[in-house]
Amino acid sequence: MSTTETPPSMGWKWDNSYSTLPHTLFSPVLPTPVAQPQLVAFNQPLAHALGLHAEAPEAEWAAILAGNTVPPGANPIAQAYAGHQFGHFTMLGDGRAILLGEHLTPQGERFDIQLKGPGQTPYSRRGDGRATLYAMLREYLISEAMHHLGIPTTRSLAVVTTGLPVYREQAFMGAVLTRIAASHIRVGTFEYMRHFMPENEWTPFVQYVIQRHYPDVLETEQPVEAFIQRVMLRQIDLIVNWMRVGFVHGVMNTDNMSIAGESIDYGPCAFINQYDPKMVFSSIDTQGRYAFGRQAAIAQWNLAILAGSLLPLLDPDHDKAVEKAKEIVNSYADIYHAKWHTMMRAKLGLRQPHADDSALIRGLLQWMERFGADYTNTFLFLGGDTTLNDGLYNNAEFTEWHQQWEQRVAAEPGGLDAAREMMQQTNPAYIPRNHQVENALEAASENGEFSPLNTLLNVLSAPYKVRPEYRSYQSPPDDGGVGYRTFCGT
Ligand code: AMP
Ligand code: MG
Repeated sequence: MSTTETPPSMGWKWDNSYSTLPHTLFSPVLPTPVAQPQLVAFNQPLAHALGLHAEAPEAEWAAILAGNTVPPGANPIAQAYAGHQFGHFTMLGDGRAILLGEHLTPQGERFDIQLKGPGQTPYSRRGDGRATLYAMLREYLISEAMHHLGIPTTRSLAVVTTGLPVYREQAFMGAVLTRIAASHIRVGTFEYMRHFMPENEWTPFVQYVIQRHYPDVLETEQPVEAFIQRVMLRQIDLIVNWMRVGFVHGVMNTDNMSIAGESIDYGPCAFINQYDPKMVFSSIDTQGRYAFGRQAAIAQWNLAILAGSLLPLLDPDHDKAVEKAKEIVNSYADIYHAKWHTMMRAKLGLRQPHADDSALIRGLLQWMERFGADYTNTFLFLGGDTTLNDGLYNNAEFTEWHQQWEQRVAAEPGGLDAAREMMQQTNPAYIPRNHQVENALEAASENGEFSPLNTLLNVLSAPYKVRPEYRSYQSPPDDGGVGYRTFCGT
């Protein structure tokens, strides 16, 4: 017999600060071991960036990332939270996720390491705590695409298949995703605090969150007020980014809104092909609450819920607290519109603001909507990619608009060349087109054929640079993809 082997460190440096908070905020729970953990996706560059030993044997990574082996120093917990789902308040919590702990990178950054789909927790209610391979690969693909698009997001370290079936309307292969996040603290965590935690625990929790994500506001005179403002600014930047690339989150419930301002929870999300502010993909969003063009307003609504949860800490005088909350929430629209305009100007290659910009931007959007033009490809066409002209851009109304735009660009320093340089950095050539995503995920999850997924991941790893061999990835589906539907929590 060999001597007792020390478990390999794998590069982890655990520091589980959330576990030091009041215990009402979480429940200790271990992942449920699975039969046959097998690593099917592993994000080498991310592992390196986190200071993890990517080169360690695959079986050891699989055991850890399936939840079969808990690494020494980790402290698995399920986090409690509540939230408004489609406008209705409810108690939630990590029903199919377990936070292994927080890892400190060699650069000293702190990240949550969370397993998604590792079995039941005290918050699972009737759910099995499991996830399908299809859904976890979907999150892996889209979150990595968002990262490379330059949009704040949780990331995906790995997907491990469990060897166990997951029963939905039929049996599917089960899988566990490893999610990396600045934290998993949500607007819904503050709703949980306000509704379910004793008052004496509110301040320590809020202090913790501020210290972790917005430490500089502790220096200000009104840290809670400043905190809400800062969350608002990050949310605005996030939504503006979503609007830039045509991303529809699909389920912007308050529990799916990160306090750190990352895109989180890739359930029914999708990217628009044809421009349409009413575009909805999620099969359960029958009212269009989370439509593409409603996302800014919904983020404001969610922010109001955050501010409402913090009222007693904003000011001891209730009326004054309400005034302060209103002032912040009411400032949202002007800030959003200014940032959205700056972003849209960048999409058109315009550096300097001009009185007519609103009309110019609206003119193009209305034209795209009327003629069913592809959002991504229209901006690429303006950026000089003439291979994308499918005849639509010969249209008389478009030509008229185009002349106005050309005149406007010509008046800018650097003219068309400078404009196009700016546009190339703003307008992606590749987005995860729904039909491409479906093909890649079906091949992987149904046939164990991973090469389409790996190619798509490769294409999306450099989305702003046209690579001629990947032309086909720029094409929308023949029918424009209008009937495409996505499903939640699969
Ligand atoms: P989501 O739609 O992923 O934001 O999840 C909403 C809530 O349902 C969260 O509290 C989840 O933890 C819970 N949930 C979703 N799927 C499952 C599942 N398979 N088992 C247990 N809880 C789940
Ligand atoms: Mg969620």
